[in-house]
Amino acid sequence: MPDDQRPLHFTTRAVVAGRPAAGPDVPLNAPVVLASTYGSYGELEYGRYGNPTWTAFEDALGALEGGRCVSYASGMAAIGAVLDLVPVGGLVVAPRHSYTGTVMCLRELEERGAVRVAWVDVTDADGVVAASLGAALVWLESPTNPALEVADLPAIIEGAHANGALVAVDNTFATPLLQRPLEHGADLVVHSVTKYLAGHSDLLMGAVLTADGTLAPRLLAQRSLHGAVPSPFEAFLALRGLRTLAVRMERAQATAQELVQRLRRHAGVVEVRYPGFGGIVSAVLPDAERADALVGGVRLWRAATSLGGVESSLERRRRWSSEAPTIPEGLVRLSIGLADADDLWADLVQALPA
Ligand SMILES: *Cc1c(COP(=O)(O)O)cnc(C)c1O
Repeated sequence: MPDDQRPLHFTTRAVVAGRPAAGPDVPLNAPVVLASTYGSYGELEYGRYGNPTWTAFEDALGALEGGRCVSYASGMAAIGAVLDLVPVGGLVVAPRHSYTGTVMCLRELEERGAVRVAWVDVTDADGVVAASLGAALVWLESPTNPALEVADLPAIIEGAHANGALVAVDNTFATPLLQRPLEHGADLVVHSVTKYLAGHSDLLMGAVLTADGTLAPRLLAQRSLHGAVPSPFEAFLALRGLRTLAVRMERAQATAQELVQRLRRHAGVVEVRYPGFGGIVSAVLPDAERADALVGGVRLWRAATSLGGVESSLERRRRWSSEAPTIPEGLVRLSIGLADADDLWADLVQALPA
C-alpha cells in the first residue's frame, strides 16, 4: 500500500491484490499448491478446508468487490451455497428471467418443499420489494440473462432489508468493474468466475462475496462440509484472468456499444437489448429460423453457450427447453470478445438473413 493510505484504483487492485509479500526470491505470483493434506496444527490441515492458491484468488476478488470471498468449484456450486442459507420452507424471491441453472435449481427445491419461490420482474422494484415481505432471501441478477433487464439495486436492497430479507446479487454479467452490489448494501454477491472474471473459456469456478461477518463463517463451514471446492490449478488460472479483467471488459464494452448501434440500424433485426454497459448484447430476429441461420452462418463468431471469454460467441437461447417462454424464439445472445469490431460486424452482416 502507498504511504498516504489513499485507496487504490480498481485496475491497480486487480493487479496487486492477492500477491505474495515482496521479498528476495519470492515469486511474484502465488504458486499452484497441489495438496490434499498439510502438516497438523496449522490453519489449513486438509485440502477441503483451505488452499493457498484459492486464498490468493479470493484476496484479489475480495479487494475488487469489497468483501470476503469464498470460492467454489463452479458458479452453480456458489449459488447452491447461498441457497443453503435459506431455512427449510423459507421464501425466496427470484427473477423470472435469470440464469437457467438458477431457475432450474430453485424449481427443483420448490418441488420437494425445501423452499417457496416468488417469481418477480426485476425491473419492477416496488413489486420485488412487496414480494420480499416475509422472505428469507431476495435473489437478484442484474443485468438478467438473456433479457438484459436492469434492477434498481439500491431501492430493492433497502426495501428488502426493511422487510427482513437477505439480498444476494448474481454479478456475473456486470463484474465488479461495472457494478459493486456490496457497496449498495447487498449481503451477498455471487459470481460464475467461469465467465468474465477468468475470461478465457478454459475453466469452471464460482465465488460468493460478503461484507457480513456472520455470513462468511457460515459459507466457509458449508463449503468445507459439502466439498464444492475449486481446484488449485483453476484458481491459479482464474487469478491470472482476473488481472486483466479491466482491460478486457473495457474493450468488450466499447465493441459491444459499437455493434449495438450497427445492429439497431440493420433491417433484419427486430430489437436490440443492451443495458448500456457490459459485453453482452441480445439481438431479436423475427423468428427461430432466421436466428438459427445467423448462428449457423457466422465464421469468426463461435456458436457456443457460455460467455465472457476473449473470443466472441453467440447462441439462440430458446434452443434450450429450460429457457423462459417469455424470451423471444428469435433472440440471439451475443458475447462480445476482443476481436476487432469491424471484423465482428462484417461476419454478422454476411450471416444475417436479409
Ligand atoms: C454461467 C452462469 C452461472 C453458472 O455458473 P457456472 O460456472 O456455469 O456453474 C450463474 N449465473 C450466471 C449469470 C451465469 O452466466
